Amino acid sequence: MKNVSARQRLKSEIRQLMRSMDFVSEHPSLAKGSRGREAARYAAIYQHLALAWEHLALQCRHWDGFKAKRGGARCCPICGLVKGAQESWLLLPRNRRKAIGRMIKPTSTEVFPNRKAATVLDDAVCFHGAKLHVEVANPSRSILFRDKSITVTAHRTVTLAEDDVECSVDEQMVRLRTEPRKPKTEPPYGAFAWEIPRKTLKRFPVLLEYDRRGRFVGLCIFRPGEEPVKRAVSRV
Ligand SMILES: [Zn+2]
Repeated sequence: MKNVSARQRLKSEIRQLMRSMDFVSEHPSLAKGSRGREAARYAAIYQHLALAWEHLALQCRHWDGFKAKRGGARCCPICGLVKGAQESWLLLPRNRRKAIGRMIKPTSTEVFPNRKAATVLDDAVCFHGAKLHVEVANPSRSILFRDKSITVTAHRTVTLAEDDVECSVDEQMVRLRTEPRKPKTEPPYGAFAWEIPRKTLKRFPVLLEYDRRGRFVGLCIFRPGEEPVKRAVSRV
């Protein structure tokens, strides 16, 4: 019921706005070849109303679907959006669940000639100071070591960054970095815990979390510069 009333309210608000736009567009000053100060003022008002329409239409969920118009385009009968057209703004509720987009996964098994052509989604948002980046791509060709051509597999990678800590998640790996990689520096070493000398390992403030059956369930890293909690370490 809530949706029906929201739909009715929006329909009537957009209808009223359209009437105002019609009223302005039919003003006599605009009929005389749109010249003069008055005409310019009314033309500006029309532009402002069009902006209000664009923002009002963001509330529309296109409840009645898209209907064919003259010329072949399919439009929403409530807000007038052409099906498939890109909206330039997003509307998010302040106090309710905020959702942008849907879960998107790679869409093809075809290998695209380059990364740009293979990109399905590449979007980012800054949320109260934290950065979230989602990248979805189909398989693509890439060049490794100047001349070696390789195939980059399809992937969906989600990266969250806060301070200098970065966590990225894809189908194969969860990677956590506590220091950003500086450009033109050598890549960090990588080794499994049992391959690292004990002396070195003791300097790593990392807890491996596991359950009663010995299954790995998580990882806890104490922030650099902070002493690990002694009791937590001794329990593990
Ligand atoms: Zn609509």
